[in-house]
Amino acid sequence: MHPADLDESRDRLKQVFSKLAKHGFSKVFLFVKNSDGTVIFRTRNPEIRSTMFSTGEDILKNAIMVAHDLNVEVHPTFVVFCEGNWKGWGMPSEPGVWLSKNPSLVQYDRKGIPIMRWADPAKTEVRRHEAELMLEVVKNYDVDGIQLDYIRYPEEAEGCFCDHCRKTFRELHGIDPKDITQPDQNMSKWVQWRALNITSFVEELRLELRREKASVKLSAAVFKDYPRCLVTVAQDWPLWVKKGFLDFICPMTYEYDSKVARYLARNHRAAVGGGATIYEGVGKKSSQSILSSVEVLEQAEIFKEEGANGITIFAYSSLTDDDLNTLDKLGD
Ligand SMILES: [Zn+2]
Repeated sequence: MHPADLDESRDRLKQVFSKLAKHGFSKVFLFVKNSDGTVIFRTRNPEIRSTMFSTGEDILKNAIMVAHDLNVEVHPTFVVFCEGNWKGWGMPSEPGVWLSKNPSLVQYDRKGIPIMRWADPAKTEVRRHEAELMLEVVKNYDVDGIQLDYIRYPEEAEGCFCDHCRKTFRELHGIDPKDITQPDQNMSKWVQWRALNITSFVEELRLELRREKASVKLSAAVFKDYPRCLVTVAQDWPLWVKKGFLDFICPMTYEYDSKVARYLARNHRAAVGGGATIYEGVGKKSSQSILSSVEVLEQAEIFKEEGANGITIFAYSSLTDDDLNTLDKLGD
């Protein structure tokens, strides 16, 4: 769910959440930090812009209150390391509200060109910034969980080749990562090093959240193509599940073709084992799929057959009454 789906009026919020509750939705994943770095909650960070509604109503607080009255959990979703605006393939992106004030924290690609919308996960200042916003929400709002999105490296370029990352890697492995080009036996060290920068962030966050409020769940929206995503965007999500850093995962299995969706879901279960909780994502309308009501139901049924513990749908704004009525046939 995106902030634009909500409203400052309590009555309107009640309509939204009542409809979801009626059709069997138990959780809502609401974007509270956007990919441009803006947020919809009250923050003490003076570098961040909070896009609160005009009347100054605390939309997150109101949404949580209304949702809880209807037994719907609220898991605020944070775009993590992406801090800017996408301008299309082959176009330079632009830094968002926070990264434009902290240009030294941007990632660099192999050619030494800044990847303008991405903050560097290897830098302590970036990690603190991302974690502190989440801790602030957990401290000030009655949330049921936190969901991580964009918890990875960029897809549009390989990061990060800033001086800091090159120096750190060279000290560890005796080689400048810029000198590792395909084919090279050192490539797996580079893959592992990038993945560790993301994994260690998730691990540290888990510990901090536990200290702040033990009952808060931690989850992530993850790439559907594991293990490929370990190489491309350094996202090793099965490891996060196995180590207990996450309570559940939401693979973004957004596909037109049901057969492809089925095999991806099967791989997800194989990657984490029987005990882990998976909520498979149906892409009703995403950058990678657009589905009819019948197809949404078909894929949801397939995910159940492949052992998913639940289904998520992306995104709320694309769900029609016909989708919701059709989904009622899914049962428990
Ligand atoms: Zn770097």
